Amino acid sequence: MLRVNGLNVFYGNIHALRDISFNVEEGEVVTLIGANGAGKTTTLHSISGLTPSKSGEIQFLQKSLKGVSPNQIVQLGLGQVPEGRRIFANLTVLENLEMGAYIRKDKQQVKADYENVFARFPRLKERLKQIAGTLSGGEQQMLAIGRTLMSRPKLMLMDEPSMGLAPLLVKEIFEIIKEINRGGTTILLVEQNAHMALSIAHRAYVLETGKIVLEGPAKELAQNEQVRKAYLGG
Ligand code: ATP
Repeated sequence: MLRVNGLNVFYGNIHALRDISFNVEEGEVVTLIGANGAGKTTTLHSISGLTPSKSGEIQFLQKSLKGVSPNQIVQLGLGQVPEGRRIFANLTVLENLEMGAYIRKDKQQVKADYENVFARFPRLKERLKQIAGTLSGGEQQMLAIGRTLMSRPKLMLMDEPSMGLAPLLVKEIFEIIKEINRGGTTILLVEQNAHMALSIAHRAYVLETGKIVLEGPAKELAQNEQVRKAYLGG
C-alpha cells in the first residue's frame, strides 16, 4: 500500500532522514519506533507532503506522491492524525469532525461515519458543542483520531498517540487503534512508547538518528536484546 524508498530529508545542514526505506501492506499495523529526534515526525510529514525530501520515492497505492499536494494526498486516502493535541482548539467538537469530512462528497456515507465515530468515542458524542480546547488531553487525542476517521482514510498515519497521556488512557487509545485496524484501516504508527506500539503492531522498524537500524515482526523485535535494552527498559 505504501512504499518509501531511499528517502533523504534535510533541514538546512541537518540530515534528518538518511536513506530510509520501508513499506506498509494493506491491513497491517506497522510501527516506527525511536527516541526523541530520531526522525519519526519528519518521516510522517514527508509522506503527507508537508516536508519536502531531497531524494527518494514515496508510493501510495502504486502512485508516486511526487508533486502531489497535501490536500490531494488526503483525497487519495492517506489521513494523518497529528502529534499531540493538534485539533482546532477554538472550534467545537462537532466542527472539528466536520473539518475532517470536508473533502468528501459521499454525504450518505459521511452520516454513517459520524455514527461510527460516536459509537467508538461516546465521550465525544456527549460533548459535541464543547469547545475542543477545553477537552481533557485524552479526549483531544480521541477527537484528533475521530477527525481523521471522518476523512475515511485507507491508510492512517498516527504520530505518537500516547504522548502526554496517563497509562490507563494510553491503553484505551491503543485498544481503539487495534479496533480501527480490525475495521479495515491500515495503520502506520510512530511511537516513543515502544512497549505499547510493539504490542499492537504486526511489523516494526527502529529509527535511530535518521536511519532504520532494525526491522522485523513486532513480536520478534520485542524480544530483541538491543531493542529491550534501548527501548523497553531492559
Ligand atoms: P520527537 O519524538 O521528539 O518528536 P522525532 O523522532 O519525531 O522526535 P523529528 O521531529 O522528525 O524527530 O526530528 C528529527 C530531527 O530533525 C531532529 O534532530 C530535529 O531537531 C530536526 N528537525 C525537525 N524539524 C526541524 C525543522 N523544522 N528545522 C530544523 N530541524 C528540524
